Amino acid sequence: MDNYYLCVMRGYLYNDIKFLPGVGERRAMLLRKELKISTMRDLLYYFPRRYIDRTKVYKVREVTEDAPNYIQLRVRVESFAVHGEGRKKRLIALASDDTGGVELTWFGGLGWVEKQLERGREYIVFGRPGFFNHELQMVHPELEAVDAPRHKGNMQGIYSTTETLTANYLCSKGIYNLICKAWENARNHIVETLPEWLMREQKLMPLNLALQNIHFPENPERLRQAERRLKFEELLGVQLGILSERTGRMARCDGFLFPTVGDKFTRFFNECIPFELTGAQKRVIKEIRSDTVSGFQMNRLLQGDVGSGKTLVALLSMLLAADNAFQSCMMAPTEILARQHFATVKKMLGDMPVRVEVLTGSTTAKERRAIHEGLRDGSVDILIGTHALIEDTVQFANLGFVVIDEQHRFGVEQRARLWTKNHQPPHVLVMTATPIPRTLAMTMYGDLDVSVIDELPPGRKPIKTIHLRDSDRLRVMGFMQRQIAAGRQVYVVYPLIAESESMDYKDLQDGFESLSQQFPPPGYFITVVHGRLSAEVKERNMMQFKDGVAHIMVATTVIEVGVDVPNATVMVIESAERFGLSQLHQLRGRVGRGGGQSYCILMSGDKLSHEARKRLEAMVRTNDGFELSELDLQLRGSGDLSGTMQSGQMFDLKIASPSRDAALVEHARTIALSILEKDPELADPQLKELKQRYFSKKDSDFSRIS
Ligand code: ADP
Ligand code: MG
Repeated sequence: MDNYYLCVMRGYLYNDIKFLPGVGERRAMLLRKELKISTMRDLLYYFPRRYIDRTKVYKVREVTEDAPNYIQLRVRVESFAVHGEGRKKRLIALASDDTGGVELTWFGGLGWVEKQLERGREYIVFGRPGFFNHELQMVHPELEAVDAPRHKGNMQGIYSTTETLTANYLCSKGIYNLICKAWENARNHIVETLPEWLMREQKLMPLNLALQNIHFPENPERLRQAERRLKFEELLGVQLGILSERTGRMARCDGFLFPTVGDKFTRFFNECIPFELTGAQKRVIKEIRSDTVSGFQMNRLLQGDVGSGKTLVALLSMLLAADNAFQSCMMAPTEILARQHFATVKKMLGDMPVRVEVLTGSTTAKERRAIHEGLRDGSVDILIGTHALIEDTVQFANLGFVVIDEQHRFGVEQRARLWTKNHQPPHVLVMTATPIPRTLAMTMYGDLDVSVIDELPPGRKPIKTIHLRDSDRLRVMGFMQRQIAAGRQVYVVYPLIAESESMDYKDLQDGFESLSQQFPPPGYFITVVHGRLSAEVKERNMMQFKDGVAHIMVATTVIEVGVDVPNATVMVIESAERFGLSQLHQLRGRVGRGGGQSYCILMSGDKLSHEARKRLEAMVRTNDGFELSELDLQLRGSGDLSGTMQSGQMFDLKIASPSRDAALVEHARTIALSILEKDPELADPQLKELKQRYFSKKDSDFSRIS
């Protein structure tokens, strides 16, 4: 009855997008696949990623290296032609205004662009300015003829799109046109999602006005109000979801008790740790200990910069579990890491009576059987592994503690499966070296408790970072030679980006060959680790480096997380401009782990986008992971964030940005708390739409964000 009523009310908004004139089956399928737009409502909630301010048009000569990220030019197209073949195929147009020329290049959707172009016609081009040999150029600019009919306002929405969509006439403009059509039909069917009193109290624009102004702003002020209203709605929905779940969870989830600090913990602590714990490590252990006697299930996020010693905290916690007759498991994102953790843990434990096993995709059937049995009869205390250990066939006698290393590689669902491994959920410790700004952690995890290791073990010297160009390569080689002569080891890392894998492997291969010439055997030994090698070979090569047999390790980002070789002091990152900030920081963290002065050398081409330059500058400027992650969020913005971070997948943030809208996040949280205080069941009928929209897909997983 309820659902039927809603369907009628919402009617048009929940229609399939294919019924919109000009869409049809094929484009509907593409929109669904590429942008997850299935209904009219999805389309209307597909917001512009930015707006062109039609009032500011740059002259070519005005554009300098310091120009904003995106600018608009008004130029006449003089000539254009398609160059190259296959993968390298591109369309280049030369255009100019009365102050100078600009080169426009497209690599995709060539057919569509070619149709738009006309020699001698004037266009507004919008894009990211770049320079090559002091000539202005733009890659993939948006393009609109000056004489084309367009939206009357001065602010024109620009929508993200994909190459496939562009090739099917759904460039930004095409999407805009669909939204215009949908809006005409939908404008009278918009159901308000916020209670009347709340909109009044918070001075928020009604939803229908907000949707209209987000797509077709009347003026900048209206746009600002529309954004605020939509962001608030989103953040309030998310916070209500998290907070109301929390109440439920606290009531539901009892936690195992670990009251005993027994032999295993004490003996390890006193006899096996060759150094003093840092103050931060001690504090976190204390926090975990008090969680595990509270009677509630622990859900703790442990943030600590690379090299801060998280593994030890995990091991101590697992020994605490063992002292209380519980088993533990530790999940790592890659086989290499799992095996490395296993080796580290084994070595640290020495001859202590603790049974540790490792389980990964390459564990043989025979080994697997033995491990499974040991888990079931309770004789295995600690299991370390990859995804393999969440398989249903893996059953524990009494799993009480779960460690997840490098959380960002695991999906929510995978984590939720761990919960079913015992009659009540185990305690969960999620460890990450990607420092998450506080506001983002709040949005992503809501009530997850956060511990921070904000102190590195003593004696670490800050890593020196420099940025060099390809032309400085000889210098780099000389430097590597000297470091190797001093007994140090060197990483050389190449980017690997899924879409162009074979090209990337070629880069790595070429790099390996030229390094082999510079560092020939028998004096030097270079080893390689990348995703295409079998687990065995990877492992062997890794060990060659770890044992100090190999001087240089050439690798892809396989080594990004967790690899620990204290004797390595140089990290050379090739094509550094292609890496994201957090990745760069992670990679840099592979060195600086021993006592020696370490170096990170960022190699890039001469041509750099504005953002890439900012990223590299930041890396050179600071070693502080928190500062870098804040900057990363700023540079990538909320659009990217929703695609790449869990926040987006989990909460479907379309407009709010946890970093930029920090104040609003906190405000929404306060309001959510006060609503829940008065109305803990959220029974207010005016909240129905909001609940429907923001709570629907979480189900049980939502509260189980470990
Ligand atoms: P991460 O936090 O990146 O996982 P690890 O746990 O791998 O860091 O620790 C990095 C290195 O620091 C390891 O070699 C570890 O043995 C060492 N280490 C950990 N804690 C301390 C400490 N308190 N004092 C000195 N070295 C430590
Ligand atoms: Mg680690």
